[in-house]
Amino acid sequence: MQPKSSPLGEFDLIQRFFKTGADAMHSNKEKVITLGIGDDCALLNPAAGEEIAITNDMLVEGRHFFANTNPELLGRKSLAVNLSDLAAMGARPIGFTLAIALPKVDAAWLEAFSKGMFAIANEYSCPLFGGDTTAGPLTISITAFGSIPSGKAIRRSGAKAGDDIWVSGTVGDARLTLAALRHEINLSDDELKQIEQRMHNPTPRVDLGIKLRDVASSALDVSDGLVGDLNHILNQSQVGAEIFLDSLPKSTSLKKQSEVIQNQFAACGGDDYEICFTAPIGKREAIAEISKVLNVPITRIGSITAKEKANENMRLLNQNGELLNNAQTAALLKSFDHFAK
Ligand code: ADP
Ligand code: MG
Repeated sequence: MQPKSSPLGEFDLIQRFFKTGADAMHSNKEKVITLGIGDDCALLNPAAGEEIAITNDMLVEGRHFFANTNPELLGRKSLAVNLSDLAAMGARPIGFTLAIALPKVDAAWLEAFSKGMFAIANEYSCPLFGGDTTAGPLTISITAFGSIPSGKAIRRSGAKAGDDIWVSGTVGDARLTLAALRHEINLSDDELKQIEQRMHNPTPRVDLGIKLRDVASSALDVSDGLVGDLNHILNQSQVGAEIFLDSLPKSTSLKKQSEVIQNQFAACGGDDYEICFTAPIGKREAIAEISKVLNVPITRIGSITAKEKANENMRLLNQNGELLNNAQTAALLKSFDHFAK
Protein backbone atom coordinates (compact mmCIF):
# COMPACT_ATOMS: atom_id res chain seq x y z
CA MET A 1 0.00 0.00 0.00
CA GLN A 2 1.10 3.56 -0.69
CA PRO A 3 2.17 5.45 2.47
CA LYS A 4 0.03 8.63 2.65
CA SER A 5 1.40 12.04 1.55
CA SER A 6 4.61 10.43 0.42
CA PRO A 7 6.92 12.31 -1.91
CA LEU A 8 8.56 8.96 -2.66
CA GLY A 9 6.39 6.14 -4.04
CA GLU A 10 6.29 2.79 -2.25
CA PHE A 11 8.41 1.09 -4.88
CA ASP A 12 10.99 3.89 -4.99
CA LEU A 13 11.19 3.70 -1.25
CA ILE A 14 11.71 -0.09 -1.25
CA GLN A 15 14.26 0.23 -4.03
CA ARG A 16 16.22 3.04 -2.41
CA PHE A 17 16.28 1.98 1.23
CA PHE A 18 15.89 -1.79 1.13
CA LYS A 19 16.59 -3.40 -2.25
CA THR A 20 19.86 -1.57 -2.88
CA GLY A 21 21.30 -2.73 0.44
CA ALA A 22 19.95 -6.23 -0.09
CA ASP A 23 21.48 -6.46 -3.59
CA ALA A 24 24.84 -5.35 -2.24
CA MET A 25 24.70 -8.32 0.14
CA HIS A 26 23.68 -10.92 -2.38
CA SER A 27 27.21 -10.78 -3.69
CA ASN A 28 27.75 -12.79 -0.49
CA LYS A 29 26.22 -15.65 -2.48
CA GLU A 30 23.82 -16.99 0.11
CA LYS A 31 22.90 -20.06 -1.92
CA VAL A 32 19.90 -20.90 0.25
CA ILE A 33 18.04 -17.84 -1.10
CA THR A 34 17.34 -18.58 -4.75
CA LEU A 35 15.04 -15.55 -5.27
CA GLY A 36 15.10 -12.33 -3.27
CA ILE A 37 13.20 -9.01 -3.38
CA GLY A 38 11.08 -8.24 -6.45
CA ASP A 39 8.62 -11.05 -7.03
CA ASP A 40 5.46 -12.03 -5.14
CA CYS A 41 7.42 -14.43 -2.95
CA ALA A 42 11.06 -15.08 -2.20
CA LEU A 43 12.35 -18.62 -2.68
CA LEU A 44 14.49 -20.63 -0.29
CA ASN A 45 16.27 -23.83 -1.12
CA PRO A 46 17.33 -25.39 2.18
CA ALA A 47 20.43 -27.58 2.20
CA ALA A 48 19.77 -31.33 2.44
CA GLY A 49 19.65 -32.57 6.03
CA GLU A 50 18.97 -29.10 7.43
CA GLU A 51 15.92 -27.73 9.20
CA ILE A 52 14.82 -24.11 8.81
CA ALA A 53 14.42 -22.12 12.05
CA ILE A 54 11.97 -19.21 11.76
CA THR A 55 11.43 -16.43 14.27
CA ASN A 56 9.60 -13.11 14.27
CA ASP A 57 10.04 -10.12 16.57
CA MET A 58 8.01 -6.95 16.37
CA LEU A 59 9.11 -3.57 17.70
CA VAL A 60 6.44 -0.92 18.26
CA GLU A 61 7.21 2.74 18.92
CA GLY A 62 6.29 3.77 22.45
CA ARG A 63 6.27 0.15 23.60
CA HIS A 64 9.69 -1.24 22.67
CA PHE A 65 11.54 1.97 21.86
CA PHE A 66 11.21 5.70 22.48
CA ALA A 67 9.95 7.92 19.64
CA ASN A 68 13.30 9.75 19.51
CA THR A 69 15.44 6.58 19.33
CA ASN A 70 18.46 6.90 17.05
CA PRO A 71 17.21 5.23 13.82
CA GLU A 72 20.59 3.65 13.01
CA LEU A 73 20.67 1.86 16.38
CA LEU A 74 17.01 0.95 15.96
CA GLY A 75 17.78 -0.66 12.59
CA ARG A 76 20.53 -2.66 14.24
CA LYS A 77 18.47 -3.70 17.22
CA SER A 78 15.45 -4.74 15.12
CA LEU A 79 17.56 -7.40 13.43
CA ALA A 80 19.72 -8.14 16.51
CA VAL A 81 16.76 -9.34 18.60
CA ASN A 82 15.79 -11.77 15.85
CA LEU A 83 19.35 -13.03 15.44
CA SER A 84 19.34 -13.60 19.19
CA ASP A 85 16.35 -15.95 18.83
CA LEU A 86 18.17 -17.87 16.08
CA ALA A 87 21.23 -18.05 18.36
CA ALA A 88 19.15 -19.48 21.20
CA MET A 89 18.18 -22.45 19.00
CA GLY A 90 21.71 -22.95 17.65
CA ALA A 91 20.70 -21.85 14.14
CA ARG A 92 22.98 -20.20 11.59
CA PRO A 93 21.34 -17.11 9.99
CA ILE A 94 20.14 -17.49 6.38
CA GLY A 95 18.35 -14.17 5.85
CA PHE A 96 15.35 -12.10 6.92
CA THR A 97 12.21 -10.31 5.77
CA LEU A 98 11.15 -6.86 6.98
CA ALA A 99 7.55 -5.64 7.35
CA ILE A 100 7.54 -1.97 8.22
CA ALA A 101 4.76 0.54 8.89
CA LEU A 102 5.84 4.18 8.58
CA PRO A 103 3.85 7.22 9.74
CA LYS A 104 5.54 9.27 7.00
CA VAL A 105 8.35 8.87 4.50
CA ASP A 106 11.31 10.54 6.18
CA ALA A 107 14.29 9.92 3.90
CA ALA A 108 16.92 10.82 6.53
CA TRP A 109 15.30 8.48 9.06
CA LEU A 110 15.03 5.62 6.54
CA GLU A 111 18.61 6.15 5.41
CA ALA A 112 19.91 5.82 8.96
CA PHE A 113 17.58 2.92 9.81
CA SER A 114 18.64 0.89 6.79
CA LYS A 115 22.31 1.72 7.37
CA GLY A 116 22.13 0.23 10.88
CA MET A 117 20.09 -2.74 9.74
CA PHE A 118 22.39 -3.62 6.84
CA ALA A 119 25.50 -3.15 8.96
CA ILE A 120 24.46 -5.94 11.33
CA ALA A 121 23.02 -7.98 8.44
CA ASN A 122 26.48 -7.92 6.88
CA GLU A 123 28.25 -8.76 10.16
CA TYR A 124 26.15 -11.91 10.52
CA SER A 125 25.84 -12.73 6.77
CA CYS A 126 22.07 -12.48 7.00
CA PRO A 127 20.65 -10.78 3.88
CA LEU A 128 17.23 -9.10 3.49
CA PHE A 129 15.19 -11.05 0.95
CA GLY A 130 11.64 -9.71 1.17
CA GLY A 131 9.08 -7.80 3.16
CA ASP A 132 6.18 -5.41 3.10
CA THR A 133 5.92 -1.64 3.43
CA THR A 134 2.86 0.33 4.47
CA ALA A 135 1.70 3.54 6.15
CA GLY A 136 0.82 3.36 9.84
CA PRO A 137 2.17 3.90 13.36
CA LEU A 138 5.92 3.13 13.34
CA THR A 139 6.18 -0.64 13.66
CA ILE A 140 9.04 -2.89 12.62
CA SER A 141 8.43 -6.59 12.23
CA ILE A 142 11.32 -8.79 11.17
CA THR A 143 11.16 -12.49 10.40
CA ALA A 144 14.56 -14.15 10.49
CA PHE A 145 15.35 -17.53 8.98
CA GLY A 146 18.13 -19.82 10.12
CA SER A 147 19.49 -23.20 9.22
CA ILE A 148 20.39 -26.06 11.50
CA PRO A 149 21.29 -29.72 10.94
CA SER A 150 18.12 -31.79 11.42
CA GLY A 151 17.54 -32.74 15.04
CA LYS A 152 20.28 -30.43 16.38
CA ALA A 153 18.13 -27.44 17.39
CA ILE A 154 18.44 -26.61 21.09
CA ARG A 155 14.92 -26.63 22.47
CA ARG A 156 13.52 -25.32 25.73
CA SER A 157 12.27 -28.78 26.63
CA GLY A 158 15.55 -30.68 27.07
CA ALA A 159 16.75 -29.71 30.58
CA LYS A 160 17.32 -32.63 32.99
CA ALA A 161 17.61 -32.74 36.79
CA GLY A 162 21.28 -32.41 37.71
CA ASP A 163 22.18 -30.19 34.71
CA ASP A 164 24.07 -26.97 35.35
CA ILE A 165 22.45 -23.64 34.43
CA TRP A 166 24.66 -21.12 32.60
CA VAL A 167 24.35 -17.62 31.22
CA SER A 168 26.58 -15.75 28.76
CA GLY A 169 27.95 -12.22 29.24
CA THR A 170 26.47 -10.11 32.04
CA VAL A 171 22.83 -9.45 32.89
CA GLY A 172 21.00 -6.37 34.16
CA ASP A 173 22.71 -3.53 32.26
CA ALA A 174 19.86 -2.90 29.82
CA ARG A 175 17.55 -2.53 32.82
CA LEU A 176 20.10 -0.32 34.56
CA THR A 177 20.19 1.93 31.48
CA LEU A 178 16.40 2.11 31.40
CA ALA A 179 16.34 3.01 35.11
CA ALA A 180 18.85 5.81 34.48
CA LEU A 181 16.92 7.14 31.47
CA ARG A 182 13.72 7.10 33.54
CA HIS A 183 15.56 8.85 36.41
CA GLU A 184 14.74 5.98 38.77
CA ILE A 185 18.41 5.90 39.73
CA ASN A 186 21.33 8.28 39.27
CA LEU A 187 24.20 7.31 36.99
CA SER A 188 27.02 9.61 35.94
CA ASP A 189 27.16 10.44 32.22
CA ASP A 190 30.37 8.41 31.93
CA GLU A 191 28.79 5.40 33.55
CA LEU A 192 25.69 5.65 31.38
CA LYS A 193 27.87 5.85 28.26
CA GLN A 194 29.60 2.63 29.26
CA ILE A 195 26.44 0.58 29.68
CA GLU A 196 23.79 2.13 27.43
CA GLN A 197 25.09 0.13 24.48
CA ARG A 198 23.71 -2.91 26.23
CA MET A 199 20.20 -1.55 25.77
CA HIS A 200 20.54 0.15 22.40
CA ASN A 201 22.96 -2.22 20.71
CA PRO A 202 22.69 -5.77 22.04
CA THR A 203 25.07 -8.45 20.76
CA PRO A 204 23.30 -11.55 19.43
CA ARG A 205 25.30 -14.60 20.56
CA VAL A 206 25.11 -16.39 17.22
CA ASP A 207 28.51 -18.11 17.33
CA LEU A 208 27.86 -19.25 20.89
CA GLY A 209 24.49 -20.75 19.91
CA ILE A 210 26.08 -22.73 17.08
CA LYS A 211 28.81 -24.08 19.39
CA LEU A 212 26.21 -25.09 21.99
CA ARG A 213 24.41 -27.45 19.58
CA ASP A 214 26.31 -30.46 20.94
CA VAL A 215 26.66 -29.15 24.48
CA ALA A 216 23.43 -27.60 25.77
CA SER A 217 20.40 -29.64 26.81
CA SER A 218 18.13 -26.56 26.57
CA ALA A 219 18.55 -22.86 25.84
CA LEU A 220 16.77 -19.55 25.34
CA ASP A 221 17.74 -15.95 24.91
CA VAL A 222 17.10 -13.58 27.79
CA SER A 223 14.72 -10.90 26.52
CA ASP A 224 12.21 -10.45 29.35
CA GLY A 225 14.46 -11.13 32.36
CA LEU A 226 16.66 -14.09 33.27
CA VAL A 227 14.60 -15.72 36.00
CA GLY A 228 11.25 -15.21 34.27
CA ASP A 229 12.63 -16.54 31.00
CA LEU A 230 14.25 -19.52 32.71
CA ASN A 231 10.76 -20.44 33.92
CA HIS A 232 9.90 -21.25 30.29
CA ILE A 233 12.65 -23.88 30.30
CA LEU A 234 11.44 -25.26 33.64
CA ASN A 235 7.84 -25.51 32.44
CA GLN A 236 8.69 -27.06 29.10
CA SER A 237 11.27 -29.45 30.55
CA GLN A 238 9.12 -30.32 33.60
CA VAL A 239 11.95 -29.63 36.03
CA GLY A 240 12.82 -27.20 38.83
CA ALA A 241 15.86 -25.00 39.42
CA GLU A 242 18.07 -23.58 42.13
CA ILE A 243 19.62 -20.22 41.29
CA PHE A 244 22.45 -18.62 43.29
CA LEU A 245 21.62 -14.90 43.06
CA ASP A 246 25.13 -14.01 44.11
CA SER A 247 26.63 -15.78 41.11
CA LEU A 248 24.65 -13.87 38.45
CA PRO A 249 27.26 -12.13 36.24
CA LYS A 250 27.02 -8.34 36.66
CA SER A 251 28.94 -5.45 35.14
CA THR A 252 31.08 -3.25 37.39
CA SER A 253 28.46 -0.51 36.92
CA LEU A 254 25.67 -2.71 38.24
CA LYS A 255 27.86 -3.90 41.12
CA LYS A 256 27.99 -0.30 42.38
CA GLN A 257 24.23 -0.33 43.00
CA SER A 258 22.50 -1.51 46.18
CA GLU A 259 22.20 -5.25 46.63
CA VAL A 260 18.43 -5.08 46.09
CA ILE A 261 18.88 -3.35 42.73
CA GLN A 262 21.70 -5.67 41.71
CA ASN A 263 19.58 -8.75 42.34
CA GLN A 264 16.41 -7.31 40.85
CA PHE A 265 18.05 -6.04 37.66
CA ALA A 266 20.32 -9.06 37.10
CA ALA A 267 17.57 -11.58 37.83
CA CYS A 268 14.63 -9.79 36.23
CA GLY A 269 15.80 -6.92 34.02
CA GLY A 270 14.81 -7.43 30.38
CA ASP A 271 16.53 -6.77 27.05
CA ASP A 272 19.88 -8.42 27.82
CA TYR A 273 19.83 -10.82 24.84
CA GLU A 274 22.28 -13.16 26.51
CA ILE A 275 21.89 -16.93 26.18
CA CYS A 276 20.74 -18.89 29.22
CA PHE A 277 21.26 -22.62 28.79
CA THR A 278 21.47 -25.88 30.66
CA ALA A 279 24.04 -28.62 30.16
CA PRO A 280 25.08 -31.86 31.85
CA ILE A 281 27.85 -31.48 34.46
CA GLY A 282 30.16 -33.46 32.14
CA LYS A 283 30.17 -30.52 29.69
CA ARG A 284 31.88 -28.04 32.05
CA GLU A 285 35.26 -28.32 30.35
CA ALA A 286 33.75 -28.00 26.88
CA ILE A 287 31.90 -24.87 28.02
CA ALA A 288 35.08 -23.34 29.47
CA GLU A 289 36.77 -23.99 26.12
CA ILE A 290 33.92 -22.38 24.14
CA SER A 291 34.07 -19.36 26.46
CA LYS A 292 37.81 -19.06 25.81
CA VAL A 293 37.62 -19.53 22.04
CA LEU A 294 34.77 -17.01 21.61
CA ASN A 295 36.06 -14.67 24.29
CA VAL A 296 32.57 -14.54 25.83
CA PRO A 297 32.20 -15.00 29.59
CA ILE A 298 29.92 -17.92 30.46
CA THR A 299 28.90 -18.21 34.11
CA ARG A 300 27.38 -21.11 36.03
CA ILE A 301 24.43 -19.70 37.98
CA GLY A 302 22.64 -22.74 39.39
CA SER A 303 21.37 -26.24 38.80
CA ILE A 304 18.32 -27.98 37.47
CA THR A 305 16.44 -30.01 40.08
CA ALA A 306 13.59 -32.48 39.96
CA LYS A 307 10.20 -30.83 39.49
CA GLU A 308 8.84 -29.34 42.71
CA LYS A 309 5.26 -28.50 43.59
CA ALA A 310 3.60 -26.00 41.22
CA ASN A 311 4.85 -22.45 41.87
CA GLU A 312 7.85 -23.73 43.79
CA ASN A 313 9.92 -24.74 40.81
CA MET A 314 12.30 -21.82 41.10
CA ARG A 315 14.32 -21.75 44.31
CA LEU A 316 16.40 -18.60 44.69
CA LEU A 317 19.31 -18.64 47.14
CA ASN A 318 20.84 -15.50 48.65
CA GLN A 319 24.55 -14.85 49.21
CA ASN A 320 24.46 -16.96 52.41
CA GLY A 321 22.96 -19.89 50.54
CA GLU A 322 19.59 -19.28 52.23
CA LEU A 323 16.39 -19.88 50.34
CA LEU A 324 14.32 -16.74 49.67
CA ASN A 325 10.81 -17.14 51.07
CA ASN A 326 7.74 -16.86 48.82
CA ALA A 327 7.19 -13.15 49.49
CA GLN A 328 10.85 -12.32 48.80
CA THR A 329 10.80 -14.40 45.62
CA ALA A 330 7.56 -12.81 44.40
CA ALA A 331 8.99 -9.32 45.02
CA LEU A 332 12.02 -10.19 42.94
CA LEU A 333 10.16 -11.95 40.16
CA LYS A 334 8.33 -8.95 38.77
CA SER A 335 9.69 -9.81 35.35
CA PHE A 336 8.73 -7.59 32.44
CA ASP A 337 5.33 -8.46 31.01
CA HIS A 338 3.96 -6.38 28.12
CA PHE A 339 0.39 -6.72 29.35
CA ALA A 340 1.13 -6.27 33.06
CA LYS A 341 -0.18 -3.08 34.65
P1 ADP B 1 2.95 -7.70 -3.11
O1 ADP B 1 2.02 -6.54 -3.31
O2 ADP B 1 2.91 -8.72 -4.19
O3 ADP B 1 2.85 -8.29 -1.73
P2 ADP B 1 4.87 -5.72 -2.58
O4 ADP B 1 4.52 -4.65 -3.49
O5 ADP B 1 4.42 -5.62 -1.15
O6 ADP B 1 4.43 -7.09 -3.21
O7 ADP B 1 6.46 -5.92 -2.56
C1 ADP B 1 7.21 -5.98 -3.75
C2 ADP B 1 8.52 -6.66 -3.46
O8 ADP B 1 9.24 -5.85 -2.54
C3 ADP B 1 8.34 -8.02 -2.79
O9 ADP B 1 9.36 -8.87 -3.29
C4 ADP B 1 8.57 -7.74 -1.33
O10 ADP B 1 9.11 -8.86 -0.67
C5 ADP B 1 9.54 -6.57 -1.39
N1 ADP B 1 9.43 -5.67 -0.23
C6 ADP B 1 8.38 -4.86 0.11
N2 ADP B 1 8.64 -4.18 1.24
C7 ADP B 1 9.88 -4.56 1.64
C8 ADP B 1 10.72 -4.23 2.73
N3 ADP B 1 10.35 -3.36 3.71
N4 ADP B 1 11.93 -4.83 2.81
C9 ADP B 1 12.30 -5.71 1.87
N5 ADP B 1 11.59 -6.06 0.82
C10 ADP B 1 10.38 -5.51 0.69
MG1 MG C 1 2.85 -6.84 -0.03
